[in-house]
Amino acid sequence: MRKNYQLIRSKRKSLALQVVGAGELVVRAPERMPVRAIEAFIAEKQEWIEAAQARQQQRAKQAHQCWKVGAKVPYLGKPLTLAIDTAAQKVHRDGSYLVIPKVPVEQRQALVYQWYRENARPIFATAMATHFPYFERLGYQLPKLHIKLMKTRWGSLSTRGNMSLNLLLMQYPPQCLHSVVVHEFCHLVHMNHSNAFYALLSERYPQWRAADALLKQGALR
Ligand SMILES: [Zn+2]
Repeated sequence: MRKNYQLIRSKRKSLALQVVGAGELVVRAPERMPVRAIEAFIAEKQEWIEAAQARQQQRAKQAHQCWKVGAKVPYLGKPLTLAIDTAAQKVHRDGSYLVIPKVPVEQRQALVYQWYRENARPIFATAMATHFPYFERLGYQLPKLHIKLMKTRWGSLSTRGNMSLNLLLMQYPPQCLHSVVVHEFCHLVHMNHSNAFYALLSERYPQWRAADALLKQGALR
């Protein structure tokens, strides 16, 4: 058999197959399992693997489709239309267009995310400054802002006073950002999701339910 898979051995007890990226096969195996046994298992699962690879390739193709000229790129809740300018040096907004330099379709997401990042800091910092005075009066220190691309959460607050906000909040209407910021600030007072926490959140940002519903609608990407 052609060795067209990545083998990861660990202290696990059984074999597991996973198809990732553009269809690469990852095999997780117990430390001492013979390669013969592993390859027999792969051969047995060939049909499942091919189906998973086809799905994965389709998904990768669709992801790139989103970055074709004319595609809608969300920016603070408004769709901008992706346009290419061969003379452009960098990504910039021109009215309702988001103009990017001429690069292959699979490189466009990284460019646009970089542009989100360049714009995010002052916008996120302003949202924090808007809501912090109440918490400052309670004696808390303004958390330090970190902007990250996160897969499973919109924001987090560490006990050391670091606040992480998801870069992709740049895609959503500003009330979503404000809701996440106030949510995290309320964790300064209540390090949990108790009734007292939600009572404070509702007092500081009554619109939080509607904003959170918007965040739930748009899947992270
Ligand atoms: Zn929370």
